[in-house]
Amino acid sequence: MTSKIKIILKSGREKSFRRFHPWVFSGAIKGIEGSPVEGDLVDVFSGKDEFLGTGHYAGGSIAVRIVSFEPVDDIRMVLMDRIMAAFEYRKKIGMVDNLDTNTFRLVNAEGDGMPGLVVDYYNGTVVIQFHSVGMFREKEIIKEGLVNALGKRLITIIDRSESTLPGKFSSDIKDENLIQGMGRNEVIENGNHFIVDLKEGQKTGFYIDQRENRKLLGTLSLGRSVLNLFGYTGGFSIYAIRGGARMVHTVDSSTTAIDLAIQNVQLNFGKKTSHQAFCEDVSDFLQNTGETYDLIISDPPAFAKHQRALDNALQGYKRLNARIFEIINPGGIVFTFSCSQVVTRDNFRKSIFAAAANTGRKVKIIHQLSQPPDHPVSIYHPEGEYLKGMVLYVE
Ligand code: SAH
Repeated sequence: MTSKIKIILKSGREKSFRRFHPWVFSGAIKGIEGSPVEGDLVDVFSGKDEFLGTGHYAGGSIAVRIVSFEPVDDIRMVLMDRIMAAFEYRKKIGMVDNLDTNTFRLVNAEGDGMPGLVVDYYNGTVVIQFHSVGMFREKEIIKEGLVNALGKRLITIIDRSESTLPGKFSSDIKDENLIQGMGRNEVIENGNHFIVDLKEGQKTGFYIDQRENRKLLGTLSLGRSVLNLFGYTGGFSIYAIRGGARMVHTVDSSTTAIDLAIQNVQLNFGKKTSHQAFCEDVSDFLQNTGETYDLIISDPPAFAKHQRALDNALQGYKRLNARIFEIINPGGIVFTFSCSQVVTRDNFRKSIFAAAANTGRKVKIIHQLSQPPDHPVSIYHPEGEYLKGMVLYVE
């Protein structure tokens, strides 16, 4: 049985359904039969009364997030299947039972056909973040699906949606353990060890999405002096040290992140290293430093969360990278990123181009970077490609 609430689209607005785009914008709606509240499962129909899809009602500018383009008889079956498919896919790309890397993204929202749901796996502990009320209301099914897919690989489930659910709902919600176990907080990534703050850390605790980019950085670090800006818990720094960097500086404004970065360096290399951590605002650090470096990483938080912040964000990337080009040594390498969803690859590249031109340095693009395969992007939902990066060689 499909749900009773019917969302009817304006004529012509069913076109995006033919291309499997999973969002219905409020402007596309002609009428609603019934009175949905946020999170309800609703059916979407064209103006000619053709069934188009079933999804969660959100009521905002994205009015519905589609879960299925087929009629849904039983949402439980759909979600159980999707979680199993997401798990099977991670198996196929070699992420499951991998001795070198025991942390990966298990569910990547639209990329895995489950808008509003992010699930990360940390060596037995699963951290869930619900980004929509609809998915949050399916919590028990999601939990069942994870237990079913992961079996003995699952020790603990933590729901950390307080910061990700829309404001008016998050006040009722406390982060909680859905399954209590002796969860471990140490993970291995490409043979490197990391302590992850699963309860308080940013996002679900670790920036799993930079795994492949960190690995590439390791191969370019030998003998170099490295500056890791927005270093969080030292991800890129550990790979740089492992790759033979001469010295590494990590800068982040969060004390808890910097404390963990120091612990992570010790965990991997003991007390005697050429690593130094700076708990400081990046702009201040860059303004005051008298050093120059052979390799600089810049991985700032999203500068633009909304389209209207786009221009400021692009100016921000330009300023930041211009300063980086000033302090990079000849023959140096820059890893520069944007994780703003609204900043396109092209826009980001233009702001780096402007930064390079302003400083007059000769810059070559040697790699274009993105998110790894456990963060898949549905070809029908290009908005899912949020991480954009470039590796630059500066003459
Ligand atoms: N590269 C990291 C992830 C970076 S996330 C990794 O691989 O794990 C962005 C980081 O920037 C966060 O740790 C946040 O604390 C830090 N940050 C945000 N604004 C900052 C600022 N103005 N100065 C310094 N650090 C900042």
